[in-house]
Order: sequence, then C-alpha cells, then structure tokens
Amino acid sequence: MNYQPDKLYQGIILKKVIYRETSIICNILTPQDGKITLLAKGVRQSKNPAFGLLQILAELEFSTHRKKDSEWHILKTCELKQTYENASFQTTAILQAGAELFDQMIIPVPEATTYYILLKNYLSYTHNFDNNSIALFWRLLLRVFELNGITLDLMHCVSCGKETSLFNGYHLQKQGFICPQCENDAFPLMIEKITTEEKDLLNILPAIGIKLDSIAISPQAAKQITRILMSHLNLHFNDHFNLKSLKLI
Ligand SMILES: [Zn+2]
Repeated sequence: MNYQPDKLYQGIILKKVIYRETSIICNILTPQDGKITLLAKGVRQSKNPAFGLLQILAELEFSTHRKKDSEWHILKTCELKQTYENASFQTTAILQAGAELFDQMIIPVPEATTYYILLKNYLSYTHNFDNNSIALFWRLLLRVFELNGITLDLMHCVSCGKETSLFNGYHLQKQGFICPQCENDAFPLMIEKITTEEKDLLNILPAIGIKLDSIAISPQAAKQITRILMSHLNLHFNDHFNLKSLKLI
C-alpha cells in the first residue's frame, strides 16, 4: 500500500493559508507528532462537513491519511473541540501572537506534549482577562526561553552578576538585564532603557498570573517589554521570529 494507516489527532491550528479554489493548508500543533502540515481539500465549499472549522486558534480532533514518505497529511474527518478566539480584538491578536510564535518555532517531537500543554494553557488562561493579557504573552515567552535554553534572568544583573531586580535596561550584546551601576559603564546604544513602570512589571512577571486584575499596563510599557523580550528571542535565533499579530496590539 502506498498510504500510511489513518491516524487520529488532536491539534491546535497555528496557521492557515488558502490553497487553490476550495482548499486550505494548515500548520497544526499536535501532542503526538509535533507540528504537522495538513491539506484540507474542498473545505471552502459550504456543503463540506469541515466547512468553517479550520480557523487559527481552533482546537480540533481530526483524522488524516498520508502517502508513505510524504510530509503532507490529507484531512479525512474533523470535529471542532473548541476555539480560543476571544470577543476582544486585542486579546485575539495576543492569542494569535502565541500561535504565530509556535508556528515559527522548531518543536522537537519528543517535546511536543510539553509545548502543546503550554500553548493550550496560554490560550485558555487569557480568556478570563480582557485587559493586561499581553502580560500572559510575556510569561509564555519566558517559558519558551527556558525550553530553548535561553532563560532570561530576572534576579541578577547580566553584567556584574549581582543579585538585584532593580534593572535599568536590557543589554543587547550581553542579552540580559543590567543594573544601574553597570549601565553607567555601558555603551548607550547597547542598552534598551526601561522605565519605572516597566521595571515594576518585570519584577512581578514570573507571578503575573495572579496579579492580572490588579495591575494596569500602559501602552508604552506593553510595547517596550514586548520589544525587549522579542529582541531576546531574536538575538538567539538570527532574527527568525516576526510576529505580525504583535503589530495589531
Ligand atoms: Zn551590574
């Protein structure tokens, strides 16, 4: 036989592109096989049973078949478990940034379940909080840093190693936060400065989940912290990550 046996999956759609007249191609994160590429033929026709189900942030149970040696899964059956789209445009953009991040990331198959649970928790958690959900995206990034061996230390100055959480900025070359003394000696262009508000947010970031309803994040702080954390990621991955959803925030 030229085909692999049918396989049943659960998965979250990370990316979707329209293909030919009636079809869709999706990148889906599954706990079993990591990221897979799915070709869904004819699903843009209203009489197709999977019509309208294949959306970014949808969690599905689906079956596929696949030619031996082919990367492509062909959709057979599909059931929507839930969608994580949010009534708020802003929150949906932040959730989609998470999906984009996972789509652009290398996810080793043995770690697929860890990543799947991480993404699912991120998408479920944010549902409850309309404001401040950008902070959950930051927390997701911290977790992704850890999984990729590029943990961002929020307790020590990256330059002198002193224990502190009173940072003055992020050092682009040393790739970490820097204390006020070390900042004085550093080349100014190497530092992404942070304000008092941003400092305070970074302080509570590891435990920010429980503080979401008692903090207010200014648009400037939201932008700057996101920028620093994305820089940290991109400094380690050759500017590989470009999350379009973040531009909507
Ligand atoms: Zn220092």
